Amino acid sequence: MLTDVEIAQNTEMEPIIDVAKRLGLVEDDLELYGKYKAKISLEAIKNLEKNDNGKLILVTSINPTPAGEGKTTTMIGLSQALNKLGKKSVVAMREPSLGPCFGIKGGAAGGGYAQVVPMEDINLHFTGDIHAITTANNLIAAMLDNSLHQGNPLHIDQRQIVWKRAIDLNDRALRHIVAGLGGKANGVPREDGFDISVASEVMAILCLASSLEDLKKRAGRMVVAYDYDNKPVTVDDLKATGAVTLLLKDAIKPNMVQTLDHTPVFVHGGPFANIAHGCNSVMATQLALKLGDYAITEAGFGADLGAEKFLDIKCPQAGLKPDAVVIVATIRALKMHGGSHKTDLNNENLDTLKKGIANLTKHIENIHKYGLPSLVAINVFPTDSFAELSLLKTEVEFMGSDVAISEVFGKGAAGGIEMAHKLLKILETKESCYHPLYSLELSIEEKIRRIAEEIYGAHDVVFTKKARNQLKKIKALEMENLPVCIAKTQYSLSDDQTLLGRPQGFDITINDLIPNMGAGFIVAIAGSIMRMPGLPKVPAANGMDIDENGKIIGLF
Ligand code: ADP
Ligand code: MG
Repeated sequence: MLTDVEIAQNTEMEPIIDVAKRLGLVEDDLELYGKYKAKISLEAIKNLEKNDNGKLILVTSINPTPAGEGKTTTMIGLSQALNKLGKKSVVAMREPSLGPCFGIKGGAAGGGYAQVVPMEDINLHFTGDIHAITTANNLIAAMLDNSLHQGNPLHIDQRQIVWKRAIDLNDRALRHIVAGLGGKANGVPREDGFDISVASEVMAILCLASSLEDLKKRAGRMVVAYDYDNKPVTVDDLKATGAVTLLLKDAIKPNMVQTLDHTPVFVHGGPFANIAHGCNSVMATQLALKLGDYAITEAGFGADLGAEKFLDIKCPQAGLKPDAVVIVATIRALKMHGGSHKTDLNNENLDTLKKGIANLTKHIENIHKYGLPSLVAINVFPTDSFAELSLLKTEVEFMGSDVAISEVFGKGAAGGIEMAHKLLKILETKESCYHPLYSLELSIEEKIRRIAEEIYGAHDVVFTKKARNQLKKIKALEMENLPVCIAKTQYSLSDDQTLLGRPQGFDITINDLIPNMGAGFIVAIAGSIMRMPGLPKVPAANGMDIDENGKIIGLF
């Protein structure tokens, strides 16, 4: 089979204007970035407000393993299949970060015959949104350091600065730095550090904003430090709100591209799913709902992280009501959850598969706790045996969930027809009784317990001394009525990444709590979570090149 980039390069794209016209948009609604990418203007978005909403479908997965699950691939293939059946389906997905792109091989624009194009552009710079976010983040940092330098009129306690600088690369050497060295003329020396841009709160607010006005309000509320009286110092206090919003004036507009079948896709915003909420922008999701009869979206990592945050943060904040959830699983990953070694996945093993299904079972149960119907999509690999596929299908049906085989990676839309038919049947026959897991009136501690016990299956939650102090601070600052965004490993339902399958009897330890006032949630840190990844021994960047004709090589 051809590589992803070869398949993408062999596809003749349609001008994006034609893709947009089929959705009922006109040329004036688009701001073109070349022939195949466009942003949708804010006026066009306003004009669409009166349209009815289509159905909202979330794609999530079991806990990821190095074997790979294929949420993005499945989501894109499902939308291609629905379109093939004559349905108006639109994808709303995240934009890739350059960090992972050059780090570990693996695209973020789907795979095989279920991809969005132009994949080279989408993976590299795209329409510049992430650069704008990086710059906005760093403008705040520069204005904060300048305020310290100019006599510190805001009485910022230098030991309590929480705003970091950002860059969209994996660069572990920037995690902890000292800024302001070189004497009096060069600023106030202090410990600082860089987060990857997609972990910046600026990315989170861009994704949760419902309009430019809302974005501005959120930007102003972001906390950058605490003063000597332990009062928060915000972007508003730095008088940076207007300039920050200005830098984001184009980044806030959703980007439109196409699948390999020329069906419409919005690729917009891409916050991390551990430290942030892991969903594409609210504005792109809403646009997909207004323009499509079916809007299909994805939340990062497994359902314990991405889907939980989609259902408890994004949907309540944006007033969205999902209709169904697709849970992607692979035989390979389930075998790893059941104890198979990574090198053993090509061999049939019904024992480890049966054990590993426990991980999927938990996620199905969790989705049903939100009052939502589920469809399990088995993302097929050539090495899956007939016996393994039958066993998994039987077990899932026994649990009361629908299940379909997906071969969209190898066959594109044709490989997703069974899945599309099953989804349509669910949408016709099963009503969504969606409700979030918890009420915002609960205390922060109670909300964390709710998620840990109900979703992760934890026995108890332990708060460290630092976390307890933060709980008191949050209470004193009257921030208790916000939802919580738990930062936790994606590999396990617990906070220990080595506990695969469906672990029991474990405790979740909360080490710290960080108010993200712009995003409107409290980040609870379970375990040690990386805001700035490093590169592996052999970075994917080593294999990338461009030839004299501009042909890109080695990008997945
Ligand atoms: P996720 O969104 O869950 O992270 P992706 O859809 O991005 O997963 O897929 C991860 C990687 O696995 C991609 O490089 C993709 O091309 C590959 N992949 C996905 N499904 C399959 C499959 N059925 N067969 C082979 N490779 C696949
Ligand atoms: Mg993905």
